[in-house]
Parts: sequence; C-alpha cells; structure tokens
Amino acid sequence: MELQDLKNDWINNYPKPLIIAGPCSAESETQMLETARRIKESGADVPVFRAGIWKPRTKPNGFEGVGVIGLNWLKKVKEEYGFKTATEVANANHVFAALEADVDILWIGARSTVNPFTVQEIAVALRGTEKTVLVKNPVNPDLALWIGAMERLLGQGITNIGAIHRGFSSYQKTKYRNIPNWQIAIDFKNQFPNIPMIVDPSHICGNRTGLASVAQEALNVGYHGAMIETHCTPDEAWSDAAQQITPEILAELIANLQTRNADD
Ligand code: PEP
Ligand code: MN
Repeated sequence: MELQDLKNDWINNYPKPLIIAGPCSAESETQMLETARRIKESGADVPVFRAGIWKPRTKPNGFEGVGVIGLNWLKKVKEEYGFKTATEVANANHVFAALEADVDILWIGARSTVNPFTVQEIAVALRGTEKTVLVKNPVNPDLALWIGAMERLLGQGITNIGAIHRGFSSYQKTKYRNIPNWQIAIDFKNQFPNIPMIVDPSHICGNRTGLASVAQEALNVGYHGAMIETHCTPDEAWSDAAQQITPEILAELIANLQTRNADD
C-alpha cells in the first residue's frame, strides 16, 4: 500500500467540519470535566476532545504536562460526555500508556515530526494499530519531512492517518505565531487527496482573534475540520493562554463556519 492510497473512513465520512476541541494541556480533573461539560452543553458538534498530557515546552522549568494521571481524566471525559479523546505522543512510552488507556486518537506534535528518529520510535510503538494517528506538520516548512513521517507510520502498518496543519515557524515578526504558508499544505492535499487535513488555527494564530478566519480559509480549500484549543477559563491556562477560547465562544465560532469548499 502507498501513502497515496490511504484514506481515513471515520474522518472522511464525518460531516464537515470535524471539530477537535479541548485544552492545550490537561491541568486537573475539574478543568477537564468542566471544559468537556460546557462544550457538550453548548450544543456544538464536537466529536473529539483533545488535551496534552505530555507537553513539549520550548524552554525548561515550565509546566511540562501532568503525565499519565491525565489519561484517567481523558477516560472520564469519554465516559461522562461521549467524546472520542485525543492526545499527543512524543515517545514510545507515551504511546504504550495512551494505547493502554484507550485514547482514541494519537497525534504527533510539530517538534516530533521534525525528528525522524522520534517518528520512527513512535511508529514502531504504534505498529499495526487501527487507531487514527494525526501528524502535525514539522515546525519548519519542509513538506518532505511531513510526508516522510507518514511514510514511517505506514511502514509499520498504520493506515488510519490524518494531517494537521499548525503553521510553520519563522523568525519574521508577523501577525501569526506560526505562518500558515498555505501552499505547503495545499501541495500536501493535492498529492494525498484522501488523507484528511485538519487545520489548527490556535497554533497558527497564537491569539483568539484570528481563529475564525484561519479556520474558514482552511475549509474553503477543502480541509476536513479544525483542532481548536478550548479551555473553561482560558486566561488562567497553564500553557497557550493567549490563544484558547471558552466553550461558548467555540460554539459561536463553529456556528459561523461555512462548510462550502473546493470539493463540493
Ligand atoms: C499542542 O497541540 O498543544 C502543541 C504542542 O502543538 P504543536 O505540536 O503544533 O506545537
Ligand atoms: Mn497548545
């Protein structure tokens, strides 16, 4: 099987836009359950709840995630509110723990996609899983590295793959935290039309104001959905506070998205 042949039935068949929402980081059971409850109560169609348990921080001595205890909270979110759950894995131990805790969707973060050794280790640990694995673009604008990460997964028999476009690092000062560089993601989409693309406006924007327009732009070019960081009290978040939104604002954002797109 080639990467070109891959599709992801669950994502591809889900009505657009498929929204993945939840906090940047799991902080406490209360924070997780309150965020999940308010997303549910908002009535928005959000099938997947995300939360980082192991956090790749740029500098040391900051909050680096709650670790495995957060997996129990994800489990509760699933049991109490019916979400599928998603978390980032960055080494083999993370993979084993997340699989053991029956997390539904695992994603490889931008700082891991950039490193072929790390991707290979994760791929081997995931060998043969039927779970969906989402691959964020590498930090730097390198399409081959992004594709190579997916080839490593496929090489270990992982076929439920999706791509997350979270923008690219740049030393230029721009309105974005990570510049979208749409062309790279569109080139990816053209090469692999059946691998679903999810946009991550939160990490592209780094603020709250640009989220809706980045999400809309992605839908307009045929992306399947968006991963949007959502927190019960965003200003108090332990990571990425500036870009997180409340569940109620998320619901409003989703309600305003137009799902017409290049494929329709
Ligand atoms: C995240 O999703 O919280 C995260 C760390 O993202 P990225 O790998 O895109 O920086
Ligand atoms: Mn984040």
